[in-house]
Amino acid sequence: MAKVMDQQPASLDVARIRQDFPILARTVGDKPLVYLDSAATSQKPRQVIGAITEFYERHNANVHRGVYTIAEEATALYEGAREKLARFVGASDPACIVFNRGTTESTNLVAHAWGRKFLREGDQIVLSMAEHHSNLIPWQFAARATGAEVRFIPVAEDGTLDLSELSSIVTERTRIVAVTGMSNVLGTLPPLAVLSEAAHSVGAVFLVDGAQLVPHARVDVEATGIDFLTISGHKMLGPTASGGLYGRRDLLEQMDPFLGGGEMIREVWLDHATFNGVPGKFEAGTMNIAEEVGLAAAIDYLEGLGMDAVREHEKQLTAYAIGRLVEAGATVYGPRDPEVRGGAVSFWYKEVHPHDLATILDQEGVAIRAGHHCAQPLMRILGVPATARASFYVYNTAEEVDALVDALGKAEDIFG
Ligand code: PMP
Repeated sequence: MAKVMDQQPASLDVARIRQDFPILARTVGDKPLVYLDSAATSQKPRQVIGAITEFYERHNANVHRGVYTIAEEATALYEGAREKLARFVGASDPACIVFNRGTTESTNLVAHAWGRKFLREGDQIVLSMAEHHSNLIPWQFAARATGAEVRFIPVAEDGTLDLSELSSIVTERTRIVAVTGMSNVLGTLPPLAVLSEAAHSVGAVFLVDGAQLVPHARVDVEATGIDFLTISGHKMLGPTASGGLYGRRDLLEQMDPFLGGGEMIREVWLDHATFNGVPGKFEAGTMNIAEEVGLAAAIDYLEGLGMDAVREHEKQLTAYAIGRLVEAGATVYGPRDPEVRGGAVSFWYKEVHPHDLATILDQEGVAIRAGHHCAQPLMRILGVPATARASFYVYNTAEEVDALVDALGKAEDIFG
């Protein structure tokens, strides 16, 4: 494989994009920062940083409470962010978006507010074996509380989900199928329409962990039949603690509140209370207002690039990275075909432990993740305690992939 891709992906003007990300201009030691850990959290463009600053400098007030001008401005910005996020994931009703800190909080919300109410002893919760702990532990809690059973769709040798036994895993007893939209370890993109159909055919609901999917590909909850979608704003150019949950309106309405407190109520007596409608009954206390306003700016930014172009760029970069890593002697986990995977590329390089590798790479300015990636059951299936993971986003270039591969050579000199 040629050292640098013959052509940069034509779809995005990456050189221009990089100008928008102040952190990409910094050095680590005397080396330029090569940031290849966007699956953990993405970097933020000036437009997002500016939106947060402007909110605090001009509009800061609590929302849904004050009648004065800046409180109304803050409310309009916060509710405008809800409309924007709804549109971004294909939801026609903004009330279907519940704001919170992101995927972990959203999965816990569903496992608690839906799970505790609707799961019974002997019911089945179907997950895949490739789930992040945040789409596993909340279901273990729900199963323990209700007597439901957790079952798993296996992972095939090539890192895709093995759907050959799906009809015996998803049964008349299944109440929910909850799977990752894109694996943070293998990059795998499960066939969501097929899984949605399987869930709905037995009357179960379908939850997608969108932490990795929503930042990297066009998502349409209504067209795909997704009943719950979890969204982490910090992985899609937005601030930490932004994002939330998309939920089908009738499901959200049937669910009881998750957290109690101010703002989520309608009327309160000493011994009982009635609650707000959706989404308000799930937004207790003072919310992450500035963060969701920042997320709205991130969505504007991504829409300006076009999600098809974002996906195309990542497909090209992922194919290039996998080719170069394999050529350099690395074992790459997960499917090879960029059509069925995203840009989180896990690998093991020769005899070098991932933690040692990440430390050496840091000395070269290259930031990758090493560890179990909050997916210990999947690590056991892969037969490794950890992997190294490089992950890509709109600002990454083929030259950065080359910098990664060059730095691997240095690690081999030291540890090989
Ligand atoms: N699911 C997947 C697939 C993830 O990659 C992550 C983040 N690493 C999460 C869930 C959890 O997201 P958050 O930390 O934003 O709640």
